[in-house]
Amino acid sequence: MPDSPVETGSLPRRGLMFILSSPSGAGKTTIARRLMAEEGDRLRMSVSATTRPMRPGEVDGKDYFFMNQAGFDRMVEEDAFLEYAEVFGNCYGTPRAEIRAGLKNGQDYIFDIDWQGTQQLYQRAQGDVVRVFLLPPSIDALEKRLRSRGTDSEEVIRGRMARAKSEISHWDAYDYVVINDDIDHCFHKVRMILEAERLRRLRQVGLIDFARELMR
Ligand code: 5GP
Repeated sequence: MPDSPVETGSLPRRGLMFILSSPSGAGKTTIARRLMAEEGDRLRMSVSATTRPMRPGEVDGKDYFFMNQAGFDRMVEEDAFLEYAEVFGNCYGTPRAEIRAGLKNGQDYIFDIDWQGTQQLYQRAQGDVVRVFLLPPSIDALEKRLRSRGTDSEEVIRGRMARAKSEISHWDAYDYVVINDDIDHCFHKVRMILEAERLRRLRQVGLIDFARELMR
């Protein structure tokens, strides 16, 4: 079987919003990056706006659109977000601009947003949304991953674990739940979900003409 999805035989279709959420430390960033690398232009990352300070290594416009509270509030007033939420003390939102037009043209987007944003997107655009949640294989494994990230104090680690548990409590608001016990297996499963969702009849807008032609 070829490693990349077979493109031949695909019909014009509507794009989808692929939401990948997880507690931090469950492998979401790794899976998202790998998907982006393998999918190329077929999958674009939705870049969020945030009021949280930039971290070392982050790039404005690539990781986030970093802005102050006044700028964020203005975008809320102008209804410029598809969804927005306060997450652990900072504001985050998905700018609406590019996404609507992209979906129409068959562009798929991947979203790294929390459960609140997921809920809002689902309420607004149910048919375009695919919700995937990653879980760690155990709480010990998650703690180990969070500890291996650096030389954080006990207090910071405890705070992160408390956050992770609060994020995990929303697992049942997702369409798919994948346990990340092995990064390769997990990646494969997430990719299969994406492929299957692309084939949903209602997304394949080109089917009407195609089927009509077959039946002539
Ligand atoms: P971080 O600050 O660590 O990059 O992200 C913190 C949390 O905010 C993560 O759970 C991430 O999924 C969430 N997040 C990032 N962007 C958005 C967004 O545009 N909307 C919502 N609702 N959550 C977001």
